[in-house]
Amino acid sequence: MWCVASRVVVAWFLQSHIEQAKTVTTGIVYDERFKLHDTRAGHPECASRCDAVLDGIRTCCNENDLSWLSPRPATMDELSLAHSPFYIETVREDVENGAMMLSTGDTDVCPDSYDVACLAAGGAVVAVDAVMSGDVDNAFCVLRPPGHHATRDRGMGFCVFNNIAVAARYVCARYGIERVAIVDWDVHHGNGTQDIFYEDSSVFFFSTHQWPFYPGSGTTDEKGAGEGRGYTLNVPLPAGACMTEVQRAFRNELLPAMRQFQPEFVFVSAGFDSRKGDLIGQMFLSDEDFYELTRLVMKIADETARGRIVSVLEGGYTPTGLASSAGAHVQALSGGLDANRLAATLLSA
Ligand SMILES: [Zn+2]
Repeated sequence: MWCVASRVVVAWFLQSHIEQAKTVTTGIVYDERFKLHDTRAGHPECASRCDAVLDGIRTCCNENDLSWLSPRPATMDELSLAHSPFYIETVREDVENGAMMLSTGDTDVCPDSYDVACLAAGGAVVAVDAVMSGDVDNAFCVLRPPGHHATRDRGMGFCVFNNIAVAARYVCARYGIERVAIVDWDVHHGNGTQDIFYEDSSVFFFSTHQWPFYPGSGTTDEKGAGEGRGYTLNVPLPAGACMTEVQRAFRNELLPAMRQFQPEFVFVSAGFDSRKGDLIGQMFLSDEDFYELTRLVMKIADETARGRIVSVLEGGYTPTGLASSAGAHVQALSGGLDANRLAATLLSA
């Protein structure tokens, strides 16, 4: 009772003293065509996920803090930054031939999937342009199909093109950015992103994920290779892991690594299947935890990357949980100072 009363008092105090002069604008990349990627009835990675995320954003955020951005298809040159021409052609041919699933693995497709996958990768590129031009401070991309399991040569795990990898390579190629960090808190290991940057010292890949679990990779021994040795940092966690373990990984491993690496641009593979109650994942993060993790990533970006963040939707398969966790994430990104969340955070510190 005392705790609840304290929280109410602290929340009231914060609400009455929060500085209202904030100016953060968060870009939201979305297009109804993302629903055209039809994975058929009963598939967890379905079109209605978009509606859940958008509902969550509209519920949690002030519309004045958001700027809606339209994607465009990624060009062949942009896709080739992260994928082999052979794989891109394989996707195009599979879809053209009416395949129900990519020939490279467990990703369902339909006749529109190639075009939608190009639009998803292009959406992440549009977000980069908007942040680099200063049109928005940061951005969240409500995209599907997701991307972080797609390797250079293989689509798998519901992913066709690796949206975040295309965007990370793009920000380096187009804007001369030399150091990029990718933070992946999806319940699954981002094996595709790791694969693409495994020998690349310009992109630091950090992942917390349930392990052992799909796709099987993501041990602490996987640290990168060659020039990229030391630029991959995996924190595998057991089923049932909650914020205690994830926050420890962020504070004790990610933060020191980033202070050394000094990223100039930060990406987030925002999977919300690490939330409690998810249909697929078995971790126990809450909406408040996603808010807090977002603030930690923002702290890193503020220190070395002028606040530049592009976050890209990955997993998350329970509609209500996906809505509220994505909403909390964008609320934090857009500078929403929710007094109740802050009070809860302060009192649990
Ligand atoms: Zn996932």
